[in-house]
Amino acid sequence: MSVELESLKDQVGKELDGLSRELRELGERIFENPELKFEEHRAAQWLTEELEEKGFEVERGVGGLETAFLARCPHESQGPTIAYLSEYDALPGLGHACGHNLIANIGLGAGIGLCSVMEELGGQLLVIGTPAEEGGGGKVELIEAGVFDDVDVAMMVHPSDKTLVGRGSLGVQELKFDYYGEAAHASSQPEEGINALDAAIATFNNVNALREHIKESSRIHGIITDGGEKPNIVPEHAGAKFYVRAKEMSDLEELLKKVKDCAEAGALAAGAELEITKEGRRYEPMKPNPVLVELFQDNLDCLNEEIDEHVGGMGSTDMGNVSQVVPAIHSYIKIAEENTPGHSNAFAEASNSDKGYSAMITAAKALAMTGIDVLGKKENLKSVKEEFSSD
Ligand SMILES: [Zn+2]
Repeated sequence: MSVELESLKDQVGKELDGLSRELRELGERIFENPELKFEEHRAAQWLTEELEEKGFEVERGVGGLETAFLARCPHESQGPTIAYLSEYDALPGLGHACGHNLIANIGLGAGIGLCSVMEELGGQLLVIGTPAEEGGGGKVELIEAGVFDDVDVAMMVHPSDKTLVGRGSLGVQELKFDYYGEAAHASSQPEEGINALDAAIATFNNVNALREHIKESSRIHGIITDGGEKPNIVPEHAGAKFYVRAKEMSDLEELLKKVKDCAEAGALAAGAELEITKEGRRYEPMKPNPVLVELFQDNLDCLNEEIDEHVGGMGSTDMGNVSQVVPAIHSYIKIAEENTPGHSNAFAEASNSDKGYSAMITAAKALAMTGIDVLGKKENLKSVKEEFSSD
C-alpha cells in the first residue's frame, strides 16, 4: 500500500475515534426506540440529521420508500461511486435483536469517515438508508427504483457472534398455503367433512420426507397459521407458511417447485382445495466479491480484529439482491459470545453493549479503509469488477 493511502487510513481512523461517543449515543437511541420494517421514521430522521450535520446532501424517501434515504458526500468529483448501506429496522417483540442499531451507524460512520478524505481521493460517496431488511426487502425496492444504478461498489457489515468476512447468504422465498375443506360436526357427521388441517399436516409430513433428499445447505421451515376453530368442527380452512432457502437461485427454483408439490399432494390426499401465494420479496443469495473480501480482511487485520472461520448455517438478506447487481460485501463483526444466536434476547443485549459499540467503530473504520483502497488504487476497482463479471 502506498504511504499516501496509509496516511489517509490513519486520518479516517482518528476521525472515527473522535466520533465514537456520538455514534454510540445514536446507536443507543435507535436501540431504545425499536421500529418495525417500513416504520423506521425516527431512526431515518436521526440518521439523516446526523449526516446533514456532517455536510452530506440528503434526499429522503428515495425509491418511493418513506424511510429510505440517500446521503451524498459533498466532496465529489469524476470517478467511481462507493455506497455504504445502513439498516435500522427492528424485530417484532424482540427489538434490536439483530443489531441493526449498530448496522445503521457502521454505514453512517464509514460514510462520514471516508467523506473526510474524499477530496484527496476523487470519486463519489453515498450512504444509503435501506429500510425493512427483516422481511420487507427494502433493498429490492431500491434496486428496482434505480437507486443502485450508478453505484460501483456497495458495502455493509452485520453484527454477529463471529467476525467473518466472506460468508454468503441463502436465497429465500416465502410461500403461503391456504387449504379449503368442508366444515362438519367432527363426531356426529365426520364423513360429511373435508379436513383442511389434514391437508396441512400431510404437507408437513411430505416436506419432512423431502428434507432427506435436498442439498445440505438448503433449508425448509414452516409454521401452521390456522389449524381450525374447535375440535368438534372439521376444519374448513387451514393455513401454513414456509420459508424455502437455497444457496443458488437454480436450486431455490427447484426446491420451491418440490415444496409446492408437497402441498398439492397434501391437499389431494385430504380432498381439500389449495391456494398458493408467494409472500414478500424474494431474497437472492449473497455473492461476496472476493477482491473486496480480501481488502476488507486486510483492513480488519490492521485494526487487530481477529477473523473467525465460518462453520454451520447461513441466513438470508436483501443485500444478496444488491450483490447480484453490484460488486458487494456483507461481512460480519463479532459483538457477542460465540454461539449466541441472532434474533435472541442475548443478542439484543450484545447490540447495546460496550463490546457492540466498540465493534461498531472497528467495522466502520474497516469499511472506510476499504473505500480508500477502492478509490485510491485503480487496479483494485479493476479487479473487483473483473471478479464480479467473471461468474
Ligand atoms: Zn439482521
